[in-house]
Amino acid sequence: MSSSALGSSLAALVRVAPPAERLPQRRARISVSEAPRGAAPTLVVVEHKDGRLGPATLPAVSAAAELGGDLTALVAGEGVRDVARAVAGVAGVGQVLVAENESLKHQLAEPMADLLAEMQKRRSFSHVLAPATTFGKNLLPRFAALVGVQPISDIIGIAGDSTYSRPIYAGNAIATVRYTAEGPQVITVRPTSFPAAATRDSPQVPVEDVSGSELSAATNWSEKVAWEAEEGSTSDRPELGTAKVVVSGGRALKSAENFKMLERLADMLGGAVGASRAAVDSGFVPNDYQVGQTGKVVAPDLYIAVGISGAIQHLAGIKDAKVVVAINTDSTAPIFQVADYGLEQDLFTALPELEQELAKLPPRPA
Ligand SMILES: Cc1cc2nc3c(=O)[nH]c(=O)nc-3n(C[C@H](O)[C@H](O)[C@H](O)COP(=O)(O)OP(=O)(O)OC[C@H]3O[C@@H](n4cnc5c(N)ncnc54)[C@H](O)[C@@H]3O)c2cc1C
Repeated sequence: MSSSALGSSLAALVRVAPPAERLPQRRARISVSEAPRGAAPTLVVVEHKDGRLGPATLPAVSAAAELGGDLTALVAGEGVRDVARAVAGVAGVGQVLVAENESLKHQLAEPMADLLAEMQKRRSFSHVLAPATTFGKNLLPRFAALVGVQPISDIIGIAGDSTYSRPIYAGNAIATVRYTAEGPQVITVRPTSFPAAATRDSPQVPVEDVSGSELSAATNWSEKVAWEAEEGSTSDRPELGTAKVVVSGGRALKSAENFKMLERLADMLGGAVGASRAAVDSGFVPNDYQVGQTGKVVAPDLYIAVGISGAIQHLAGIKDAKVVVAINTDSTAPIFQVADYGLEQDLFTALPELEQELAKLPPRPA
């Protein structure tokens, strides 16, 4: 498709592949360990930041509820009463435990893992779950090592009793894995693969404190590991992992300055901005923008890939996107094989035209 007025270009957008054909997946069956489960409480470790419940916790609660049995949520930190109250209003949660201590203020994985291990000794959870975010992926393997079990990471489904599905080989195959050993089932949950549990404004279940030796287990770390600082980007745009629209740019954007075109487009669509690893490595955007196997997994209604080739590692992060639009000058770019709509055009022509066309539309409702 040659570059001309965007109106005609858009009219000629080609539907390339139905979403079901995106990333064909083969199934593998792997048995992880040995032994059956009894009915014991399930624990979900709550992720929170700045006094707010992290959205990725809600799908983890849904996954835990799907397992059946009593569901306890743990809120650890300092000054986290408001978070605990919010969690007590989440559908499916039967009890909230609050571990408040200075050593847990930043939810460092080391003291958190010790806290969990001590709680496991006393409470014998059947399952311990957390979202498969940086937080959960840092914490649960440490806890699993302390209690001597193999964790199952990044589950995308519960396939039966003690049996879970999870992507492997950058999402090209789905493994079905089964716990058969003694000990808690330690699981991180891919947030985009489970619905968010419903929230209610007022607490519905009891909130209790964790204290005594359980809590003091978390304080042994204070001389070995210390919080230094955190550098993060702040943005009014929606969070990449939960945004309904994501506009991502690749190496072809050429500079941080040019990424502003994507930011404007994302703002017009009420979306988030993402990037390929090449764009991140080139320093155009911070690395928390990265989408893909070693970046974030996104599941928007609309994913617009601008100047991105569609390497398998990038596609691993957009498998659950409902509609993919690709803008690329190379008709053989792999992104066109997974795109629902492909525009073979120079991005520096397409983006300003797209912006002009969108500006003609009535404003989006707030
Ligand atoms: C272990 C491992 C993990 C990885 N994890 C990730 C990951 O999480 N996420 C990720 O993205 N990558 C990841 N990668 C890197 C991945 O393999 C690719 O190198 C990367 O995705 C390429 O980024 P890109 O598409 O922006 O760049 P390129 O491959 O250079 O593609 C640029 C594209 O832009 C097009 N183009 C050029 N100029 C224009 C123009 N003016 N207008 C329109 N189109 C244009 C080109 O035709 C090309 O298709 C990983 C690699 C490894 C080995």
